[in-house]
Amino acid sequence: MRAPFRLFLSPLIVAGALCGSMADAAEPPPAEKGYYEKRINIVGYPIPSTSPVTTTAVSDTKAVLQALRMTGVAYAGMPASHADEAAKTARAHGFNAVIGGGHRYLFSDLPNEKLATNVVCGGTYEQLLRDAKTMSEACHRHGLKFFLHQTSTMVDASLITRHPEWSAVDLATGKPYQNSYGTANTCLNNEDFMSEYFRRLEKLLSEAGADGLLADEIQFFGPTPCGCESCRRKFRDVTELVIPANGSLGGWLYDFTGKSSYAKWLAWRRERVTETLTKIKSLVVKANPDGVLINYLANPSPSAPYYMAGYAIDDFPKHSDVVGYECEPAVTENTTRSELAT
Ligand SMILES: [Zn+2]
Repeated sequence: MRAPFRLFLSPLIVAGALCGSMADAAEPPPAEKGYYEKRINIVGYPIPSTSPVTTTAVSDTKAVLQALRMTGVAYAGMPASHADEAAKTARAHGFNAVIGGGHRYLFSDLPNEKLATNVVCGGTYEQLLRDAKTMSEACHRHGLKFFLHQTSTMVDASLITRHPEWSAVDLATGKPYQNSYGTANTCLNNEDFMSEYFRRLEKLLSEAGADGLLADEIQFFGPTPCGCESCRRKFRDVTELVIPANGSLGGWLYDFTGKSSYAKWLAWRRERVTETLTKIKSLVVKANPDGVLINYLANPSPSAPYYMAGYAIDDFPKHSDVVGYECEPAVTENTTRSELAT
């Protein structure tokens, strides 16, 4: 997650809340280091504080037993013996769950394809199927849960070249939407793209034997997507209102945000994100009746996620079992990030 929050994205923590508890910090796998940037500020109104807060470590036995202590493992291309060793090491260090790293992309079909770094592709889709099963089995042998982490609407530009009709469209410019990660975006309202996404995700979930999924980038990537044909048709069908023309004279702010249809559009985007995540949860449960869906915000303010991404944390309990904020522990003069992660 999530392009509009780029300025304040931080190293991966899934600050999980399984059974109302918490997750540990995990150093991002090497392949994903370029994905994150130092937190600078938080966008929102009122502006949330970013000053350090004092946290209390989990100390009592009951809380420790309930906590999801999760670390990341970059498992792309890992032979079974290495996966077993990685799981064994994670268990020995006190973790009880592994989240897969470095293998997020579902749409690579050609070996050695050159793709944008930030789609975090660890190999072809077929390799992902094999690797995920290998890592999942290794984790289960050592008493660890294994969660998949897959991206969705954030794609490599080559996919849009092959399927230009899948692109999200920027209302402000009328052009295919380019997010700040340097990757391209499809649209969660595009039936053809989502059909292929769901097909690939469902097969992965059914073959991996994972305990759950972090479904990333099910969102709109800023305040101005999306003006694609699917969005226009679906919004009109539901509201009888019209999204202004892409790149129209007067600009996005003038043409749209001063109208009541803008408020309805924001609410409709939120509904579309929620419906899509609910569908994904149904696929998780279909593959594993006890499977969980992980979801989190990169920006812990109530306003920015809604206006930018179509996200409202109030919706999370409708589809997600493990929820939280993406955040970064404070690093003092005498503490390195790797020390914090361990
Ligand atoms: Zn769209």
